[in-house]
Amino acid sequence: MDEVRTSGIPLSEARPCDFCKGKIAPIFYVITIKHAFFGKGANQTLGMFQFFGGMQNDGQDAKRLAIAENFSPNADRAIVVSEDDRINTQLFICQDCYLRGPVDLAVIAEKRHKETEPEEEKANG
Ligand SMILES: [Zn+2]
Repeated sequence: MDEVRTSGIPLSEARPCDFCKGKIAPIFYVITIKHAFFGKGANQTLGMFQFFGGMQNDGQDAKRLAIAENFSPNADRAIVVSEDDRINTQLFICQDCYLRGPVDLAVIAEKRHKETEPEEEKANG
């Protein structure tokens, strides 16, 4: 088996579970929420897909889409994903919350985002 890749978080950045405010030790989960949307590359690629025959449900649609991607300059940006920590939200979830759920991700993410926004943004609303 290949070695598992890991990254680290300093202890100073540890905090209680973002859902129940309970302890996270010894094992917890880190959820990173990134925003994604369809960019202009999607329309360009779909246009080329139509040029090469479009959807035919003949088992060759994926191949036509791959060819369309090769001819579309922004195919790799058809779906745009945020990689900015000012926009993305990282949540800690304890094993209890993870296993028992349900958890309202949107509410907790918004709360966490407000906790982490810089002080001057809070002052300006
Ligand atoms: Zn919890």
